[in-house]
Amino acid sequence: MVVDVQCIMPALSSLCNCFHTKLIPTSPKCKMEGVEHVEFHEEAAMEIARKIIKTAVENFPNRGSDVHIPDHKEQAIGGFTTENIFHILGGFYRSTYRPLNNAIIEGRVRGAAGVVGCNNPKGRHDYGHITMMKELIKNDVLVVATGCGAIAAAKEGLMRPEAADLCGKGLAEVCRAVGIPPVLHVGSCVDNSRILTILANVVAEGGLGEDISDLPVAGAAPEWMSEKAVSIGMYFVASGVYTVLCQPLPVLGSEKLTRLLTEELEDQVGGMWGWDPDPVKAAHLMIDHINKKRKALKLRPMMYQTAPVGASG
Ligand code: SF4
Repeated sequence: MVVDVQCIMPALSSLCNCFHTKLIPTSPKCKMEGVEHVEFHEEAAMEIARKIIKTAVENFPNRGSDVHIPDHKEQAIGGFTTENIFHILGGFYRSTYRPLNNAIIEGRVRGAAGVVGCNNPKGRHDYGHITMMKELIKNDVLVVATGCGAIAAAKEGLMRPEAADLCGKGLAEVCRAVGIPPVLHVGSCVDNSRILTILANVVAEGGLGEDISDLPVAGAAPEWMSEKAVSIGMYFVASGVYTVLCQPLPVLGSEKLTRLLTEELEDQVGGMWGWDPDPVKAAHLMIDHINKKRKALKLRPMMYQTAPVGASG
C-alpha cells in the first residue's frame, strides 16, 4: 500500500500489521514509525516505482487466506484538467468553453455541480456521493468530482461515457456528442481550486454573467469528514458558490452563526452554505439554486422535461 500526504491516519501502520500488507509512505511530509519509507522524486519515478513493485511481488507469498478481493471491476476515464477540458468540449477547431456555455444557455445542460470530498464513517460508504451525483445528472446537471468522492463515482461506473444513459435527455445528448462521461474526474481534493479556475474561465467566455456567483453552479461535499474539506468548502462559498453538505458544520449551537453561514453570507460574498442529511434532497437544494441563477440570467427554459423531483433511481 503506497501513500502520499492526503488524510493518512497514523493508525494505518498498526492496521497493516494485522495483515500481510506492507505500507510505503513516499512523501517527506508523511514519515511513519515502523514502516519502510521510499521517498518519491519525479526524476527517478520509474526506478522508484520498480523498487516498490518488487517489494510487493516479494511480499506476495505472505498473503494469507484472510484476504478478500471483491470480484468487481469497473472502468473510468480521468484526466479532465483546466489545461485540457476546453479542448475536449470544443474539439480541435473550437477549443474553448463556448460549447459548454452554449449548452447551458440553450437549456440542454441545466448547470454544473462540483461533488467532492471525503467518505464519512457515520454513513454508508459512498451512498451520499453516488445518490447525489445520480440525482444531479438525471436533472441535466454536469458533475465534476475530485478526491474520495471521485473514486466513489468511478467505482459506480459514472465516469464512463456510457453513464449518459443515466442522464436527463439534454445532458445525455451533450455527453454523447462530445464523448465524455457526465461525471468528470478533475483530480484530488487539493485540485478543487482548479474547479474555480474552470468557473472563472466559463465566466470569461461570456453569456453567463459577470462573476462566479452569477453562474448556474453549486458545490457539495456530501460525506465530508476532514477539516480540510471544510476549508475548501469555505473558499468555494467565499468565491460565490452555494455549497451543500449532508452532515451540517458543527455550528448549530449558535443560531446567529448558523443564520450567517446559511442565509446572510450570500449577500456579502455571493455564496453560502446549505445542508440536508438526505442526499436526494441536498441535490435538489443545488438544483433549486441552479434554477434560481438561470432565472436571474434570463436563460431559456430547459429544452426537455426531466424526471419529477425526488424520483431518484
Ligand atoms: S476527500 Fe477528504 S478524505 Fe479524501 S483525501 Fe480529500 S480531505 Fe482526505
